[in-house]
Amino acid sequence: MRHTRIIATLGPSSATAEGIPALIEAGVDIFRLNFSHGSHAQHAAAVRLVREAATNCSRHIGILQDLSGPKIRTGRLAGSTPILLVPGQPLQVTTGDETGMPGHVYTTFAGLAQAVSPGMRLLLDDGQLELVVESSDGHSIRTQVVVGGLLAEHKGINAPDVALPASALTEKDITDLQFGASLGVDMVALSFVQSADDLILTRAALHAADAGSTTLVAKIERPQAVQNLERILGHCDGVMVARGDLGNEVPLQSVPRAQKEITRLAQRVGVPVIVATQVLESMRSNPRPTRAEVSDAANAVDDSVDAIMLSGETASGKYPLEAVRMLDAVIRDAETMVASPRAAFNAGVLGVPHNRAICESAVTLARSGEAEAIVAVTREGKTARVLAALRPGVPIHAITPHERVARRLMLHRGVEPRAVDRVLMDEAAGTEVERHLVQCGVLHAGETIVFVSINADVTRADANFLRIRRVGSLPTPPSGPTAPRASRP
Ligand code: PEP
Repeated sequence: MRHTRIIATLGPSSATAEGIPALIEAGVDIFRLNFSHGSHAQHAAAVRLVREAATNCSRHIGILQDLSGPKIRTGRLAGSTPILLVPGQPLQVTTGDETGMPGHVYTTFAGLAQAVSPGMRLLLDDGQLELVVESSDGHSIRTQVVVGGLLAEHKGINAPDVALPASALTEKDITDLQFGASLGVDMVALSFVQSADDLILTRAALHAADAGSTTLVAKIERPQAVQNLERILGHCDGVMVARGDLGNEVPLQSVPRAQKEITRLAQRVGVPVIVATQVLESMRSNPRPTRAEVSDAANAVDDSVDAIMLSGETASGKYPLEAVRMLDAVIRDAETMVASPRAAFNAGVLGVPHNRAICESAVTLARSGEAEAIVAVTREGKTARVLAALRPGVPIHAITPHERVARRLMLHRGVEPRAVDRVLMDEAAGTEVERHLVQCGVLHAGETIVFVSINADVTRADANFLRIRRVGSLPTPPSGPTAPRASRP
């Protein structure tokens, strides 16, 4: 089993009736829909194809909706002709939807001219071009070009020194989020998060869309998010190290350190981590990656991240399948390494001592070689999430009555979710679950397995247990087949 998850972004190279099943076969666990691109109709069609393909191959495949957030962009240019920015020359950046020309560009993001002050940097086109602010009257910014080159229309603007006044959740994001909820996406990622308030707002919007328990991922790509990380971690279910924009917003040489610091802090509080962007970048146009790219991916595995994400490689690259196969192979090889020591999960964040004690005991049994796998009997996924955060090093088979819970658990390292009929869950100690897993070929006679379930309520003995058992030692099952059907979400 591969413990680290693969997320693949869908786009023109992959969002087809043939492409999606092939990508699942190659190893994709979660598909990302990038709402910075594509129409609602295209995203709805992609969701249908993913659900169909997952059903056909009996797998739980997650869908992550990535909201575009307040991405600041330059406007259109006269004749759509790029303009040349020359170092030392002035460039005016004005609020509005008008057509730009040499020496003057527009942006519809009104908050920018209000937020900047002299000396601050503006980076254009993925950080290729740099301006320094000389003055702003709150509507128009006078800048001087520091790093020049050609600027085409609709290019991104990063303002790393500015805490932007806007919430990370824009009007467009709210509309998109409601649409995503209507499609039943499993996870939502919020771009350009600056503080925990952005996530509180997003959670409220999810609740309003009747999707309050959707997994909420904070994309960490602004310096303000790095500073506020501890509070942010208290309000999300996952973080993404979004290295594309992060590399514009913090000095490029600081990206690896930021990645490690974000990963360690998130792991201390048991929040899953996704490492994203340019993972196998050269495979957008080449069938083989570089040594540096595969080393980067293997290092993320060694850092025990939960998931690695492909973006342009699968969305618009020439070799989407090869990229997923390569990442799968790199992860599998890296997972055979002796793991580096890592920051311990502060299980105290669970709050309930008996929950912590039960999960830690299960992990102790697994780590000491007493158990070959852990079976988490989990209704809403908490037992599996806590076990995953403790990184037992053996597979965690998460058994839940809900398909939606199974799909969300795809984000967690080492968790193999499986939705089953609710009746299998209705007995303590997991004996019915064991029979079912043997029938499905997941567990085998002779294996020693720990069965675990936690619940905050100690009056519910059936929901708090830890049993260690050799598979095959149960009495013969009563006659009559059990139908392993999950309840629909
Ligand atoms: C990133 O910036 O790294 C990222 C994942 O976000 P996007 O693809 O939306 O730029």
